[in-house]
Amino acid sequence: MQKIKGSCLCGGVAFEVTNAFDKLFFCSCDQCRQITGSAFASNLFAAAESFVWLSGADDIVTYQVPGRDISKSFCRICGCGVPWPSSDGSKMVVPAGSLSREPDFAERVRIFVSEQPNWSTGIERVSAHDRFPA
Ligand SMILES: [Zn+2]
Ligand SMILES: [Zn+2]
Repeated sequence: MQKIKGSCLCGGVAFEVTNAFDKLFFCSCDQCRQITGSAFASNLFAAAESFVWLSGADDIVTYQVPGRDISKSFCRICGCGVPWPSSDGSKMVVPAGSLSREPDFAERVRIFVSEQPNWSTGIERVSAHDRFPA
């Protein structure tokens, strides 16, 4: 099975995982909005045994939302989101944006759409540019 690598922005934290994900979840829940500072989180799930840290595991900070099954792991140097284990430890939750190339997945699913902020809806109809607009 092919592997895919990922890292944080400073490169300190790096990992490798089997590139055969089931679903890519776009989560618009309130917690993911705050955790990412953006409209939704983009997360893939991998079997824990298919995942290995290559470097920087000691630089990872994890915040667990009190009383909820939600957590956020990030590099303490650059603040980038990095993978974290599911609550039962059977899966690794992998932020899609941390991967070095396009992941292979079966399907994309949007979840918690009722909590999606209005400012991010209809994005296909927003004026688009390759750089900052002139
Ligand atoms: Zn980093
Ligand atoms: Zn969420």
